[in-house]
Amino acid sequence: MDLYEYQARELLDEQGIPTPRAIFAQNSHEVAEAADALGYPCVVKAQVKIGHRGQAGGVKLARTRDEAVLAAEQILPMTIHGHKVHGVLVAEAKNILHEYYVSISVDRSSRDFDVLATANGGTEVEEIAKEHPEAVKRLHITSLEDFDIEAARRMANAIGFYHADVEQAAQILLKMWRCFKDNDATLVEINPLAKIGDPDDESSKSLCALDAKISLDGNAAFRHDGWRRFEDPVHEDPFERRANEHGLHYVHLHGEVGVIGNGAGLVMSSLDAVSGAGEDQGTGIKPANFLDIGGGASAEVMKESLQIVLSDPQVESVFINVYGGITSCEQVAEGILEAIDVLEGSKPIVVRFDGNAAAEGLRILAESRNPNIHVCTTMEEAAQLAARIAADVKEGQA
Ligand code: GDP
Ligand code: MN
Repeated sequence: MDLYEYQARELLDEQGIPTPRAIFAQNSHEVAEAADALGYPCVVKAQVKIGHRGQAGGVKLARTRDEAVLAAEQILPMTIHGHKVHGVLVAEAKNILHEYYVSISVDRSSRDFDVLATANGGTEVEEIAKEHPEAVKRLHITSLEDFDIEAARRMANAIGFYHADVEQAAQILLKMWRCFKDNDATLVEINPLAKIGDPDDESSKSLCALDAKISLDGNAAFRHDGWRRFEDPVHEDPFERRANEHGLHYVHLHGEVGVIGNGAGLVMSSLDAVSGAGEDQGTGIKPANFLDIGGGASAEVMKESLQIVLSDPQVESVFINVYGGITSCEQVAEGILEAIDVLEGSKPIVVRFDGNAAAEGLRILAESRNPNIHVCTTMEEAAQLAARIAADVKEGQA
């Protein structure tokens, strides 16, 4: 799970890593208020979960209120490398004297943590690594040894921080490590970690994190209250959130035929089959969602999946396409029947099974004599039937 810069900053702030004062804003009115509150000059920065914003025109300096508003009006409608801008961060502009780069990430091959850093930052680290590979240092933190202030000082020296910056750099490295560990991150990157201040006044100079990128390990969400505070209320789809809470891989597509299957490839083919059927039949019926229930298609998982798909008011029929593997189609069939028992107001469900105990599974469903359950032996047949039923229900309502 990647964070926006304004969210990543919160985590740095919590560890006491210096960052410029900044306010998140979502329209030009809020930007004007934020800029007035912070003072000028300030920077207006696109909030997108992708780097290289500066080069794409997503970071602008504003010396006045009018410039801040103009910057907001230019940046807010932007799409940067395919990502729609989600608000801007208005931050105090700092006078940059020097730029460093530091990141901590999980290194799966050596099974420890990589610290990638350069004392000659400024551009993207990939470019520095290409032109001056010797300037980019790769160091390690092992989970078994304590990374303390002494170790952090040795690291700051090895990276090549200027002598005057070593002590503060060590403090920041230590805090970055705590930020990484406490938050179960997979990446904590500060670029630039800038030396800021008045060039003629030694006492004004200090290090400050001007940009941060943090990724969190989704597997650890359960011990962080699901990272609820980082949820994106404006953008989040209620069905996707519910599926996510149950660990299901769901994408809302807003058509009429709910699709549930096991394995991403099978579900994608099912979506295509439903869209194709809608076109063949001239009804324009489309899939309502992608839902991959994964390998262990247990009764419980099937129940939750059906509940989510059926709660979508646009859904008129459901296509369940399961390839029995470890979990046999008999078990999946039992799950479907259990789910229908507890659900009120069910809708027509078309089931196609293949693989482990497919015939037995279909027999169990057929024998239930539930008028809402239809069984098919091929994907094409099932998709056609589900699309036809959805179109008929829709027409009946019209
Ligand atoms: P990125 O392009 O997505 O990495 O966005 P950054 O937040 O790193 O900003 C891009 C560049 O804008 C930085 O490398 C800086 O050179 C510049 N920049 C960002 N904040 C400030 C600031 O407060 N003062 C100055 N002078 N430049 C800034
Ligand atoms: Mn940056």
